[in-house]
Amino acid sequence: MEERRRYISEEFNKRYGRLPSIWARAPGRVDLMGSHTDYNMGFVMTMTIDRDTWIAARPREDNQVAIYSCNVPGGALFSLEDIQRDEAVPWTNYVRGVAAEMQASGYKLRGFDGLVHSTIPFGSGLSSSAAIEMATALLFKTLSGLELDPVDMALIGQKAENEFVGVSTGILDQYSSVMGRNGCAILLDCRHLTSEVVRINPSLHVVICNTRAKRNLVGTEYDERRAQCEEGVRLLQRFYPEITALRDVTPAMFEGQRRALPALIARRCQFIIEENQRVLDLAQALPEGRPEPLHALFAASYSGALDLYEIGAPAMSAMMQAMSTAPGAVAARQAGAGFGGSMVALVKGGFLEPFTEHVTKIYQQETKIQPEVDAVQAVPGAMILDWV
Ligand code: ADP
Ligand code: MG
Repeated sequence: MEERRRYISEEFNKRYGRLPSIWARAPGRVDLMGSHTDYNMGFVMTMTIDRDTWIAARPREDNQVAIYSCNVPGGALFSLEDIQRDEAVPWTNYVRGVAAEMQASGYKLRGFDGLVHSTIPFGSGLSSSAAIEMATALLFKTLSGLELDPVDMALIGQKAENEFVGVSTGILDQYSSVMGRNGCAILLDCRHLTSEVVRINPSLHVVICNTRAKRNLVGTEYDERRAQCEEGVRLLQRFYPEITALRDVTPAMFEGQRRALPALIARRCQFIIEENQRVLDLAQALPEGRPEPLHALFAASYSGALDLYEIGAPAMSAMMQAMSTAPGAVAARQAGAGFGGSMVALVKGGFLEPFTEHVTKIYQQETKIQPEVDAVQAVPGAMILDWV
């Protein structure tokens, strides 16, 4: 941590000719259950991870923001009085978007010189985008002396990503990044934006297995799944006029009317409805830590993702095979939106080394890709590390 701080301070000093005076931090996250349930207003079991994004900054008094990143080339200097999208350096849109949405919500912002540094891999489903958004929101909030609670910040981040950056996402990523708790998972209710802390039995390690395979078409496929869920709701409303999202449909309600739906729409709906129930079941199973129910829930989530929601990828199948056969493996499934990216396993205490070795070897044999296999800890949500 000290080394990282020293490095960022030096880079900051090289760029701006002075040292940073404030440090904001927001973590990445992994879902332990609940694929694609967030935009269906359902439940997600999520956990922050000890990979995070820091922004070192120093306030400016001229209504401008300078932003650079240690992870990506290029940066920007933009005025808070006229925030435009940047097509040349697109990553800065995450920062611009948060500023634009905060101002649109009526907040008066103070500018800054900022330098971003992240240890979250990009585009692998661990929410590096939400982390940069939440660190930015927290920085503006603190420097501008604003009253915003974590839910406000999450909503602003989601809006920035959906409307300014132009990537559709649910609220899960941003909400997880602000709500994280040390050593615990969080059960999110994506309709009411409330959460419950769920203890992870200490006999278990959470291990992220990144396929590092290129993800294709995630955006279009994601939008298509959302549209299919909406179509399912529209069709089911003929029988259940009171429903407004798949979250409102119980497995029994669905079974009663599934034949009225086109087969593809029915498969998509079935997955979401069952996955939602699995999140609630995991809230019981995770603190207890008994391997059988955990295994069954994760396995059902993965097979539903593959066969019903069809968000699998060859690299994910290879990774699932490697994870399931590894020593100490209790449970394994996809993470994030699917189509490659990261997967997640629960591993028995004491088995981290043989688990990692096995997964790396078997996955690499099959795909010729070197995976990243990392045990992660749940950490507190977004916070100011230091302000002098
Ligand atoms: P994920 O959120 O799963 O990591 P996304 O595609 O949603 O993947 O977001 C990744 C993008 O977010 C990056 O390509 C980059 O544009 C932006 N981003 C995230 N972290 C940083 C950072 N530290 N510096 C610059 N850009 C970042
Ligand atoms: Mg993202």
